[in-house]
Amino acid sequence: MICELCGASEDLGKSHIIPESFFVEAGSKNETLILATNKENEFPKKRPIGEYDSEILCKSCEKIFGDWDNHGKNLLIDEYKASNSIVENGQIIGHEISHFQYPKLKLFLLSMVWRAGASKRPFFDKVKLGPHQDRLREMIVANNPGSKDKYSAQVFSFRGMPNGYPILMPIRLMSTYGINYYRFYLGELFVDIKIDSRKTPSGFGIGEIEDGHPLFIASRNIREMSEYKIFKKIANSPNNDKVT
Ligand SMILES: [Zn+2]
Repeated sequence: MICELCGASEDLGKSHIIPESFFVEAGSKNETLILATNKENEFPKKRPIGEYDSEILCKSCEKIFGDWDNHGKNLLIDEYKASNSIVENGQIIGHEISHFQYPKLKLFLLSMVWRAGASKRPFFDKVKLGPHQDRLREMIVANNPGSKDKYSAQVFSFRGMPNGYPILMPIRLMSTYGINYYRFYLGELFVDIKIDSRKTPSGFGIGEIEDGHPLFIASRNIREMSEYKIFKKIANSPNNDKVT
């Protein structure tokens, strides 16, 4: 087996593409209901620790991600929960976290995309990065988060998510004016990462993470999003209570 990051051939370790903590957080009783594939009519399954892949990284490369994953977890789970919401006209428009470490958060998000692109698991089979796979690999190896606009990343929260809704499902490819984004679901939050060399269309850059600025997590009404229908369908699935 060849490590996708360093090319060494040795025993590969278990890698989480999306860190375990996001699965545990989204679920209850240490299990998370996830939709494991993009196939129609596939029932969701309960998984205790989320999706991992044993065919991507050698054990020493896996360690590179630990620090970034921890910063991502601390910010997007712990600090997000403790953050104040920003209210305008009686409505929550977002959350602000005043300090974060841009290189670590950006590399956490970029490395999730890269890991998803390297994975052959069905959960990530929509992620096909083409030439960006290797460009991201180079940034990871060089510990280089890039500028704000290079593979820009935006973190959002779902507003009005009904309790008990399943919130982990496969990454989706989205498009805004023809610019490609991958959308990752992280519990109550989701992240759009622009996998495209073109600039973000004007008016769509809200909350793009930037060095020296606070982290703004814009809030989006779940009922106005295409995800709502999918979540509802999964929540009403007859297999909900079965652990498979
Ligand atoms: Zn390696």
